Amino acid sequence: MLHILILNLGSTSFKYKLFSVAAEERLLSEGSVENIGSQGRYRVKTPEGGTAEGSCACASHADALALCMEAMKQTRVPVELGSLDAIGYKAVHGGTISGSHVVTDALLDEMEKMAPLAPAHNPVYLRMMCSVASLYPSLTQIACFETSFHRTVPLQRAVYGIPLEWAERYGLRRYGFHGSSHSYIAWKMRQLAPHARRVVSIHLGGSSSMCAIADGQSVATSMGATPQSGLFHNNRVGDLDVFCLPVLAEALGGYPQALEALSGQSGFLGLSGVSNDLRDIEKAAQAGDARAELAIAAFADNIVGYIGMFTAYLGGADALAFTGGIGRNSAEVRRRVADNLQFLGVKLDASRNGGNAEGRISAPDSAAEVWVLETNEELMVMRGCAELLNAR
Ligand code: ADP
Repeated sequence: MLHILILNLGSTSFKYKLFSVAAEERLLSEGSVENIGSQGRYRVKTPEGGTAEGSCACASHADALALCMEAMKQTRVPVELGSLDAIGYKAVHGGTISGSHVVTDALLDEMEKMAPLAPAHNPVYLRMMCSVASLYPSLTQIACFETSFHRTVPLQRAVYGIPLEWAERYGLRRYGFHGSSHSYIAWKMRQLAPHARRVVSIHLGGSSSMCAIADGQSVATSMGATPQSGLFHNNRVGDLDVFCLPVLAEALGGYPQALEALSGQSGFLGLSGVSNDLRDIEKAAQAGDARAELAIAAFADNIVGYIGMFTAYLGGADALAFTGGIGRNSAEVRRRVADNLQFLGVKLDASRNGGNAEGRISAPDSAAEVWVLETNEELMVMRGCAELLNAR
């Protein structure tokens, strides 16, 4: 039996799932720490209902790991880091390295090289991997890259209109991200609706991306060389004409300031002027705030645009699947998207859509099915790790 701890790191957040894998996959514990860098808030639970939560000083992601290991013991999950078969990471950008790989110095170097394309993610993972390596040198660490699922996107859809040698020399091409979520949706849809061969996976959350899936494989995705691109995100810009950048750099005092503003003050926050959280923006729009209304309308419109592009690539769509914090919980965004998909014959069941439960939300006579699913990124990362460990 293998014990694998999967880590999902954000700039100030830490999430984990602990699995045992033998003939069957079992979740033993899951939890999170928010607010890393000051007073961390942690919450740990087991599928049997055990919970431990609280707050305590938490300076780094390594502290968050120690905190969760300690909290797990309180919920009677007595796992020591030293007894794990591996720690697996939902790592973000490995450049030309994709798939699941044991963390080595060469892999860390590649992640370091790609850090400018994933500045909010790669440095956090690098620091964590290095501190685990120094504290537990014999513990196997495995990185499963978010880009991996998109390896099947055809080359003509992955290149930018730049000199081809720049793609090789500087790694500038469309990689796509959220691979563990989109691959989970691909897998889950095969269980739930095996007849749906052409699926558009719509992951909407703090970061949002979409993926066209044909027979279980990614054939197009909305994110490009970096996870800042495609649809706009909570505070991040999404796609922007690159020639806006010198204008902003001039106005804001330099390129670093412009990039900072595009990753911290843009997206839902910048457009709505209300909040980076769609819940606040929906409330403001209902109360008549025109900018909040515009932000929601622009987001839904952007999604519709990608669905149009993706259904062209797929030659039609059998199913759409919404996931992520917004996709799972915002009936309003789903309704606005579906209202604009009459060309596809999409019809929602209004009460199922409003109910926000997992499952099918389209009307029985809808030409394409519409689903709401809870994603499980850690499960896919765990599978990548288990495959690698079993092959060794
Ligand atoms: P991340 O991408 O950071 O993992 P999530 O997928 O958890 O984030 O999504 C978080 C976002 O989901 C929040 O920023 C919030 O805007 C949105 N969200 C959560 N619940 C709701 C809801 N009931 N209605 C609208 N939006 C919601």
